Amino acid sequence: MPLSGFIRFFRHSLQRLESSLVHAAGFDRSLGPALAVHGPSLLPQPQHIGDHNSMPSFLDSIFWMAAPKKRRTIEVNRCRRRNPNKLIEVKTNIEPCPECGNLKQKHALCGFCYEKVQKETALIRKQIQKMEGRPLNAPSVETVVLYENEAPGDADKNKRIVERSRKRPSWFNL
Ligand SMILES: [Zn+2]
Repeated sequence: MPLSGFIRFFRHSLQRLESSLVHAAGFDRSLGPALAVHGPSLLPQPQHIGDHNSMPSFLDSIFWMAAPKKRRTIEVNRCRRRNPNKLIEVKTNIEPCPECGNLKQKHALCGFCYEKVQKETALIRKQIQKMEGRPLNAPSVETVVLYENEAPGDADKNKRIVERSRKRPSWFNL
């Protein structure tokens, strides 16, 4: 057998072996057309092999920020800081609360009154919770709050009545 024929036979048998191995490993060589995506920045890039000699500089790990080119003098800084536009404005919309007399802004709720109502409401909610025997998420019945010396009216027949053992506060009306 001539040498060239032997080499051809050897190469052919190698190719067959390779293809059978690939087939056994689950990779099919007869692949269909694939979609080529033009987006190299999205995909993980291989490391540049040629840049072995350039060591990573310590400057690479620094986060660079803009720095002023010239120093501002203390006079300039003070002028900026003490500018009249930066002063807090004098408020003229303050009046005493008609309920408690504490000062409040005209358009805003009185904080003191709000706190009082909050506390009273929390007590009422606690009382309802006790009557329900479970957390007060959605009360099953409509509720009426009665204070001392108050009797339930005709409209309150089917409602749950919460009695508070104190006089009705002036700010807690129906
Ligand atoms: Zn008030």
